[in-house]
Amino acid sequence: MILILSSNTDRNSADYRQLMAYLSGLRDIAVRVHEERGAEQSLTEIYLIGDTMSLDVKDMQSLPCVERVVRVSEEFRILGRHKDDLRPQHFDYNGIRFGQDTFHVFAGLCAVDNAGHVEAMLKALRDQGQVCTRMGAYKPRTSPYAFQGHGKNCLPYVFDLAGKYGIKVIAMEITHESHLDEIRAALQQTGNPTGVMLQIGTRNTQNFELLKIVGRQKEFPVLLKRGFGITLDESLNAAEYLASEGNRKVVFGLRGMKTNMGDPHRNFVDFAHVPVVKRLTRMPVCIDPSHSVGIRSAAPDGVLDLMHVTAQGVMAGANMVLVDFHPAPLQALVDGPQALLLKELPHFLEDVQIAREAYLQRVALAQRYAQ
Ligand code: PEP
Ligand code: MN
Repeated sequence: MILILSSNTDRNSADYRQLMAYLSGLRDIAVRVHEERGAEQSLTEIYLIGDTMSLDVKDMQSLPCVERVVRVSEEFRILGRHKDDLRPQHFDYNGIRFGQDTFHVFAGLCAVDNAGHVEAMLKALRDQGQVCTRMGAYKPRTSPYAFQGHGKNCLPYVFDLAGKYGIKVIAMEITHESHLDEIRAALQQTGNPTGVMLQIGTRNTQNFELLKIVGRQKEFPVLLKRGFGITLDESLNAAEYLASEGNRKVVFGLRGMKTNMGDPHRNFVDFAHVPVVKRLTRMPVCIDPSHSVGIRSAAPDGVLDLMHVTAQGVMAGANMVLVDFHPAPLQALVDGPQALLLKELPHFLEDVQIAREAYLQRVALAQRYAQ
């Protein structure tokens, strides 16, 4: 059960203390307080965990400071959708809004290799009016001998260049808690020219200790990739781990499932789950066509599989597209074969726009027929 308190409730007030005294007296019920600080107001939510079926919604509603009570189902208590749930459906980060009705493309390098390639990528994005990108500094690789990313050494020039080209958010995977500190330090050192969305990769979806650490900080939003060999339910629970630790600025990423049923694609494309994740949770949904498809083959119609698949996800309501580009894919140190070329960026963005408009038209059509 969630008690949503009146906005700007003062935690030092007599009413609040009275409420907490009452709640702490409830048997077999744990109390967890969550505070969300917005630009204009702060919102406090109190999660009651345990035997809450014995509690009466009306009684709880009449407690001091309580504005609304939501009885949640067992699953996905924080990120899930619940009856009469009017909690915010979006979050803002560095001037950009992320929700189930917004749409952003994060095109960029799978892995940072050198400052020249980073600059060429960011300039191409700026020229196309883009304000988000992806840049890998820490790369989890199958072989211990493969390039693992430049790590903290590349962060200062990546952040400086992002600022120079007006990039507001960089999706960047981390694989260890020390990376979080390194990112924070490099942002401070460069004067916070940009923002970072921490990415948890598919190999770490169930790295619960990493999830807890990333979930405990509220400074950076998180893009959680679906685990490539586990059920959707297990991956959604991983997202709930982040939220239950305090950070609910979570985007859920679909990136294909590991099975040779998807051959000749690198992974089996799972974008049919875009509407499923939106129905089960309040998270914005990201699709990653690059790691799903993994190759640059085109259909006889002349359209790359990568673009067909992107369109499928966007037409199904995806809110974010994470996609690999590279100025010189043959020189890329990671995932060159799936990278799109900078000259393909305008084509890609225009194609995506067609799919987004088709999605919005389809929603309007559904609403018309529902009347
Ligand atoms: C990536 O986005 O660079 C990546 C490694 O993705 P995934 O974790 O989905 O394999
Ligand atoms: Mn990659």
